[in-house]
Amino acid sequence: MNKDDIFEIEIEDLGNDGEGIGHVDGMTIFVKDLCPGDVAKVKIIKAKKNYCYGRAMEIIKPSKQRVEAKCPVARQCGGCVLQHLSYEEQLRRKDKKVRDCLSRIGGIKDIDSYMEPPVGMEDPYHYRNKMQFPVRRNKEGKCVVGFYAGRTHSIIPVDSCVIGHSVNDNIIKAVKAFVDKFNISCYDELTGKGFLRHILTRVGFTTNELMVCLIVNGESLPHKEVFTEMISDAVAEYNKAADKKDDNFKEIILKSIVININKEKTNRILGFTSKTIYGDGFITDYIGDVKFMISPESFFQVNPVQTVKLYSKALEYAALTGNETVWDMYCGIGTISLFLSDKAKKVYGVEIVPQAIIDAKKNAKLNNRDNIEFYTGKAEDVVTEIYEKKVEGSTADVVCVDPPRKGCDEKLLNTIISMAPKRVVYVSCDPATLARDVKFLSEHGYELKKAVAFDQFSHSMHVETVVLLTKVHN
Ligand code: SAH
Repeated sequence: MNKDDIFEIEIEDLGNDGEGIGHVDGMTIFVKDLCPGDVAKVKIIKAKKNYCYGRAMEIIKPSKQRVEAKCPVARQCGGCVLQHLSYEEQLRRKDKKVRDCLSRIGGIKDIDSYMEPPVGMEDPYHYRNKMQFPVRRNKEGKCVVGFYAGRTHSIIPVDSCVIGHSVNDNIIKAVKAFVDKFNISCYDELTGKGFLRHILTRVGFTTNELMVCLIVNGESLPHKEVFTEMISDAVAEYNKAADKKDDNFKEIILKSIVININKEKTNRILGFTSKTIYGDGFITDYIGDVKFMISPESFFQVNPVQTVKLYSKALEYAALTGNETVWDMYCGIGTISLFLSDKAKKVYGVEIVPQAIIDAKKNAKLNNRDNIEFYTGKAEDVVTEIYEKKVEGSTADVVCVDPPRKGCDEKLLNTIISMAPKRVVYVSCDPATLARDVKFLSEHGYELKKAVAFDQFSHSMHVETVVLLTKVHN
């Protein structure tokens, strides 16, 4: 198979980045923008020994699951790789990925008998509570706001993003008008010069509070009073258009405008200091009954609608009666700890990022929870030490883990096994590492009881999973 060869192929599967996968004479071909069921004319653009990359020249017969993407720049933009696939099929594929991993890597026989139906979104649009838009000037010197094109740093201009809150459209417009009015310079990644780098917005989906943050390469925002006025007007305009929107429309309350200072030549979006120019510098939001204070830097789950469902499932699997000691490992800002603390006797949380633990403690106080204790450090070190010292927290009835993509450290898994909790609730953002860890736990006295896939990031390939493992009685 050579570069520029053209074949007609049928797409059979989805790759890890949402690309279509097909075969010609046993050779695997990856083709961007195609989905399972599509029959297309494909030109080979890169030929490797065992696989090829192709470009779709023409779709001869579209898949039954193909839909028109809502976003006009879905193909160019790096964000939504699955918008051309029906939502039902997205969900089915994500669920299948979890099943495949648990059976193939996890060694679980008869996986279907353990899986609950996948939990998707009723409305898989406008779900993100946090958006970050780079601001640049294009070759003609015009201010553009948008997203980086997949795997690059060239900007695809976006006036309206279908996965963010719709108030963002008004904010983007206002920031552009502000840049034009005062001829504000925009950041240039090559030279490291230029003032305005990014717009960051956060919306509390239950409180309807809005924060607008400008990330700047400087110390202060010129004409900040005018900027505040322009943003207030933009929000008022959004609210005024309310009667044109549906019944679910909620008025947005502008709660805070902040600048975040980042003068470094780096890909990192946020700098380390923020200055409030309007309001208190934070918004509040709820997950279930638990209240959170959110500043520009805070980690907070980006899909609040699904997060409640995910944590409720973790709570259900934990099956707490009020007498249990629970560990929340990889606890972040303590969201799961707080969620579980209401129903447990005592909750211990551990997290590697010190700032997250500072936030976790603040959030515990905010919610008057005095039965949670937080530790900073690597879960595998902190928990193992506590276990070995036989101090308070060395045993647990329930252990909940929510590790990053690489999964749990084996040292931690061994400690959990020694602690011998009745239940392990595993929340995972990567089904492959989840399956690896499930296998390990299954070989050491635990058995998988239930599993369910959650769609936290509609139109992307990500899938979140919650599983319950229980201790096998000897
Ligand atoms: N449960 C939280 C966050 C989960 S994300 C929530 O739902 O909001 C995974 C977390 O694990 C991150 O906050 C990351 O900082 C933390 N982390 C990564 N490696 C770790 C380790 N070795 N020990 C403890 N925490 C770790």
